[in-house]
Amino acid sequence: MSVPEAAGPSGISQAEISSGAVSLPPGLPSAAVVDLDAIAANVRVLRGLAPTAAVMAVVKADAYGHGLLPSARAALAGGASWLGTAQISEALQLRAAGITVPVLSWLTVPGDQFAAAIEHHVDIGVSAPWALAEIAAAARDQGRAARVQLKVDTGLNRNGCTLADWPQLVEDALKLQADGLVSVVGAFSHFVESDAPANPVNELQLAAFRAALEVAEQAGARFEVRHIANSAATLTNPDAHFDLVRPGLAVYGLDPAPGATGETGLRPAMTLLGRVSNVKAVPAGQGVSYGHTYVTSTDTEVAIVPLGYGDGIPRHASSAGPVQLAGHTFHIAGRVCMDQVVVDLAGEGVGRVREGDVAVLFGGAPGEPTAQDWALAAGTISYEIVTRLSARVPRLYIGSAGR
Ligand SMILES: *Cc1c(COP(=O)(O)O)cnc(C)c1O
Repeated sequence: MSVPEAAGPSGISQAEISSGAVSLPPGLPSAAVVDLDAIAANVRVLRGLAPTAAVMAVVKADAYGHGLLPSARAALAGGASWLGTAQISEALQLRAAGITVPVLSWLTVPGDQFAAAIEHHVDIGVSAPWALAEIAAAARDQGRAARVQLKVDTGLNRNGCTLADWPQLVEDALKLQADGLVSVVGAFSHFVESDAPANPVNELQLAAFRAALEVAEQAGARFEVRHIANSAATLTNPDAHFDLVRPGLAVYGLDPAPGATGETGLRPAMTLLGRVSNVKAVPAGQGVSYGHTYVTSTDTEVAIVPLGYGDGIPRHASSAGPVQLAGHTFHIAGRVCMDQVVVDLAGEGVGRVREGDVAVLFGGAPGEPTAQDWALAAGTISYEIVTRLSARVPRLYIGSAGR
């Protein structure tokens, strides 16, 4: 095992654990242990659920906090044939690491790195005429056609071209294709509420997407890939699979629609560990942590765990976030601080937790708290819990997928 040294493209330190077990190497205050085999297995599950579609593993935002390159390689080992990123810079990091599979980036701004995207064969998502114009200019300079995928807004009212503007965007793109400046290779959209499969908005969006595809195909577009399904739609709505599915969260083993998906067979890839720095007795009736918002109800012991909002632990989880120690789940006592939290060991933990013990904040093994538990404790979604983990927490990798 090597202790983290090498920084990944995000600046997060990354290292390998050869033992294959989830553990916190001696001397480290904290780590997020990422099981690459879980990522590969999750992609296999998703492929099985969408057997007629290709899988684009979404690896934006440092693979939802799991580490871009190891996660991307593990997803490819599991059978993903595409990768998806929000920003072009993320796609370029994949290319710089020698990853050659098709990559789509869908969130661009005026003045973006279109020339580099074209040079490195990154598909560019296009939502607006300004992007087509900039991409065409960059393609002319490069002397090579840009691969573009047109994004239609079927109701999210976020990015994507409006249904009203769609016919014109398609026509403009096909003109540039005739001029040899772009290849229009895909069309896509994004759901509003795929985590609520029964919501009629899903059907309305699918109908709008089909109509938009029809308009484009009538105009002469021949798409390699048409896609709309994120994780939740991949899990719950086969009608949404088309040629390709675009799961992110599910690749990392988290459930995008708790309660709506049933038994998914997905396995959380990340386990967040912290090492207890202090255990001490606190009498009943004492305030704990800043503001004394928490008061001990019995004579107890508290454990200090060196993970705080500087590490991405949400302060909204104060007095709520679960922490497992000595095989039992306790809760944070009082405010989450920048660098640490305090855990009240009242009951099962008193006398059983020692300095140097390893706390599990969330993981995937039976009985462990989950990122979803943290999401509920903080009033957010599991996406945010894993993605917001900061660069101070080293990512350690176990498993062999993609290595
Ligand atoms: C983030 C994102 C996804 C993946 O969404 P999940 O809910 O994590 O599966 C897919 N498509 C687009 C356009 C996205 O922005």
